[in-house]
Amino acid sequence: MARLHVETIPILRDNYAYLLTEPETGSTAVVDPGEAGPVLAALEQRGRRLDWVVLTHHHHDHVAGLQEIKRRTGCKAVGPRGEYSRIAGLDLTVAEGESFALGHAVAEIFETPGHTAGHVCYYFPDDPALFSGDTLFVLGCGRLFEEDAAAMWTSLGKLAALPPETKVYCGHEYTLANARFALTVDPDNADLAARARKIEEARERGEPTVPTTIGEELATNPFLRADSAPIRQHLAMRDDPAAAVFGEIRRRKDLA
Ligand code: ZN
Ligand code: FE
Repeated sequence: MARLHVETIPILRDNYAYLLTEPETGSTAVVDPGEAGPVLAALEQRGRRLDWVVLTHHHHDHVAGLQEIKRRTGCKAVGPRGEYSRIAGLDLTVAEGESFALGHAVAEIFETPGHTAGHVCYYFPDDPALFSGDTLFVLGCGRLFEEDAAAMWTSLGKLAALPPETKVYCGHEYTLANARFALTVDPDNADLAARARKIEEARERGEPTVPTTIGEELATNPFLRADSAPIRQHLAMRDDPAAAVFGEIRRRKDLA
């Protein structure tokens, strides 16, 4: 029943990498290092070795630091089996229903196709904590580059079913733009309006908005709320399948 210590490492322009430590064994991992420098500096500052790089999908802004980090630390890398041929340097691949152990902390793997075809998320049920990559963002979701809206809606459904207290660590700080967009499709949601105000303030102070929780997202993230009556009504899609409502929200965000 191991718990994780999680530190947020801002990288590139608006990406987040995460440094995970499993305190019982001292095992460490870095999630989605799109850049090596800040990750290596964080390890050095803390006097830590690195055991694993953990990857959610093949995009450059999530994997570009991998080779240098492997060279400098001798760590191994785990990533999605469906993207094995698109990520150089994976030592281990994972797929739906499998697990990945960081010391005594064990992650369950969810395949979440949508943003990319092979995207995976890592869920540590003992914490509980989810590393959602570019599938679920604070008040948003990833763009549909490799799969359609129906696939992404199914993927998000897996994450929405996790315990509401689950902390969600996502791949980008897109929250402010997401909040402003969310208000345009769910304008009467009081929880969302209150949250948007807090986000404006946090970003003015330069504070990260991660982690969020599944419960907060269920209450305020329009991409998880495509089934909600007020959003359906607002979009004049009362009788459409939820996946179609989701697709319309995604289309509007792409145009925003
Ligand atoms: Zn991506
Ligand atoms: Fe990304």
